[in-house]
This record gives sequence, C-alpha cells and structure tokens, in this order.
Amino acid sequence: MNDSVIGKNCHKLHIVQLRYQHLPFLFFLEVDNMVQRLTLRRRLSYNTKSNRRRIVRTPGGRLVYQYVKKNKTVPKCGQCKEKLKGIRPTRPCERSRLSKRQKTVARTYGGVLCHGCLRERIVRAFLIEEQKIVKALKSQREMMVKPVKPVKAVEKKQSKTAGAAKTASKSATKKPAQKSTGKTKK
Ligand SMILES: [Zn+2]
Repeated sequence: MNDSVIGKNCHKLHIVQLRYQHLPFLFFLEVDNMVQRLTLRRRLSYNTKSNRRRIVRTPGGRLVYQYVKKNKTVPKCGQCKEKLKGIRPTRPCERSRLSKRQKTVARTYGGVLCHGCLRERIVRAFLIEEQKIVKALKSQREMMVKPVKPVKAVEKKQSKTAGAAKTASKSATKKPAQKSTGKTKK
C-alpha cells in the first residue's frame, strides 16, 4: 500500500490519515510529497521551440526530462493548401534520409499539387490549346472567304484593295480582344 501511495505523489488527505496511523512512515511521505527538482540533460538552457521536454518517471522512480521533437509535417498542395495524401510526415532534416517513394506520389507534380488541382490545370491547358486551334481555323476561313466577295463587284481593282485593307483592319482589331479573353480565364 505504501508503495502505491508514494508512487502517485499522495494527496494531503492521505497524509493526514497516515500521520496518526503510521508515524514511522511520516518522514518518507513528506520527502516524497516535496517536488523533485529536475535538471536539463543538454546544454541548451533557454525555453525555445527546439528545447521542449516532458517529465517522465523512470523505472527507478526518478523524475526525468525527456526531450520532445518538433511536430512532423506533411507537404501541402501548392494551389489549394490542402494536405497531400500518401506522403510520410517528416521533419525537413529527415527527408534527405528517406527514399523517393515516401516523399512523392507517382504522378506528374506528385508531392507538389493535389490531384484535383492538377486535373484542373491539365483541362485548362487543353482548352486553351483548343481555343488557339479554333482561332487559327477561323482566321484561315476569313482569309479564304473574303477575297471571293469583292469579285462580285464591278470595279475589280478598287474593290480588291479595299477588301484587303478591311480584312487587315478586322484581323488587327480581333486578335488583341481574343487574347485578352484568354488572359482573364487564366
Ligand atoms: Zn490542390
């Protein structure tokens, strides 16, 4: 019974009860009730982030500091800041010791972007490329179609020059507008 009481840093009530019953144990109990002073085990004596520790009782009944390491982290998605899956949480200094398998996912931009953000980027890039192709086709058609119209007019020479000027002006005005729309979508 005494061992258990000593082990649990006994309450004051217990001591009061015990004082009358077991006088010879009084001295030991009071000694145990005093707070044991702890000493740091390393030379760093400031209460810094890297000097965090917790108190642990050894098998011999001593109280001792145990140093606690900093929290391990998982990399986050570069776009939506969500924690990435399938990657081992580590401290930066540990990462150099790990194999590649534990630090990335087998995907382009694995370990950098999450799957959702990557999909979005791929789709966006694809659509932009498609848009460019459509634009090129449109401009080609305009070039093909417009020179035909002025043929109908009676005065050939004047209409041809006028038509060419018109197409040039139209293409000049249209191109920057389309570019601007592309930029806004990005
Ligand atoms: Zn993301």
